[in-house]
Amino acid sequence: VAEKVARVVRKDLIAPDVYEVDARWVSPPEVTFRAGQFVSLRCDGSGNTRRSYSIASSPSDTGGIELLVKLVPGGLGSALFRDLEVGHELHGTGPMGFFVNELRHGGDVVYAATGTGLAAALPMVQETLARPNEHGRVILYWGMRTASELYWLDRLERLAHPRLELHVCLSRATDVPRGGPLRRGRITSPVLAVVPTLASPIVYLVGNGDMVKELKDELVALGLDRRRQVRTEVFYPATKRGE
Ligand SMILES: Cc1cc2nc3c(=O)[nH]c(=O)nc-3n(C[C@H](O)[C@H](O)[C@H](O)COP(=O)(O)OP(=O)(O)OC[C@H]3O[C@@H](n4cnc5c(N)ncnc54)[C@H](O)[C@@H]3O)c2cc1C
Repeated sequence: VAEKVARVVRKDLIAPDVYEVDARWVSPPEVTFRAGQFVSLRCDGSGNTRRSYSIASSPSDTGGIELLVKLVPGGLGSALFRDLEVGHELHGTGPMGFFVNELRHGGDVVYAATGTGLAAALPMVQETLARPNEHGRVILYWGMRTASELYWLDRLERLAHPRLELHVCLSRATDVPRGGPLRRGRITSPVLAVVPTLASPIVYLVGNGDMVKELKDELVALGLDRRRQVRTEVFYPATKRGE
């Protein structure tokens, strides 16, 4: 598969160890994709090491991609983004992936994302909200640890829509101001509490493997169809601790 090339035009540190990167396509100059898809980027000269990154921008922008990248210690993908500068090129394949919205949602829709999983979830939520023939509830849960790690609250605010309910769940926060989208705890309990109240729900799970596995198992135990009603994208594998 021929690699595509994009040139970095912006790299902003938006939270501790989290970068927002805007890259514009060079070759080919325009690329189409579906909300939720990712690119697989080459991390070294040999091309043997690749890492995947979800496209955070809207599919209406075919001239480039926005990525949201959390640096983790010691990794090759993280080194690529740590050293990346404006003007550098990204080489990769894609866009690809099957974690995309159903072509039509007959009922309510839940998106549950942890960490940078928000990158995939945001454009999918936007796409669903823009569908004139869908009328169900759209509920987005974003799981983070503390308020100091948060980013893109402005983007989340701009999503505001009569069909959208937004919950930002902070698993390690001790006190959370009342009245806004912030709440204490992990995303698992509120998702499991709301799903039985929904009409023909489809649940999209994206982010850390432990969350995805735990919620998928529990949702299937609640009676959701494993294949048709629970759709998943794992960013990194589940640990044995199940934390
Ligand atoms: C389909 C897909 C889409 C992805 N989209 C994104 C994205 O949009 N943004 C993004 O930052 N990452 C994303 N990832 C993860 C990404 O591909 C890399 O795994 C990540 O950047 C770490 O790579 P690394 O080489 O630095 O470290 P590695 O050596 O590959 O990983 C080291 C460890 O870091 C942890 N880790 C990996 N990714 C994350 C993360 N995102 N947040 C917290 N801890 C993590 C895991 O425990 C992992 O075992 C995606 C992965 C997949 C499979």
